[in-house]
Amino acid sequence: MEDCIFCKIIRGEIPSYKIYEDDFVFAFLDVNPLAKGHTLIIPKEHKKDIFEIEDLDKIVSVAKIIANKMKESLNCEGVNIYHASGEAAGQTVFHFHMHLIPRKKGDNVDFSSLKVIKVEKDEFEDLSSKLKIEK
Ligand code: 5GP
Ligand code: ZN
Repeated sequence: MEDCIFCKIIRGEIPSYKIYEDDFVFAFLDVNPLAKGHTLIIPKEHKKDIFEIEDLDKIVSVAKIIANKMKESLNCEGVNIYHASGEAAGQTVFHFHMHLIPRKKGDNVDFSSLKVIKVEKDEFEDLSSKLKIEK
């Protein structure tokens, strides 16, 4: 897509620190990292979000490869995978991306401000019947 920042990165029109590329997937360092090594994994074909993407398994496979590499090369003790689809979820760049964030005990990355909500029993029942997928 012409004006998309991430498409421009794939085409090399905007510089990036590329760490992985194959026929379908591209991965590079986030310019505003939450931790050293914070990586974005994106499909080469422009897809806006999870509702448009078809080959999510290809992204996930690369996430696994890069997570292993982070453990090996950065000695991280864990990783967070983060993704936002849609403005309501906090997506700011509308080319699908998965964040992969290397973690160490005592680092300053803070996901703890997430607040849980109270859901009553009848709402759990209603939600589970709405979301249930029969196979
Ligand atoms: P979102 O907020 O949509 O989940 O994540 C978008 C991410 O893209 C942000 O973490 C932001 O730092 C990153 N980002 C935005 N523009 C650029 C850029 O030009 N280069 C790189 N490497 N990352 C970018
Ligand atoms: Zn794009």
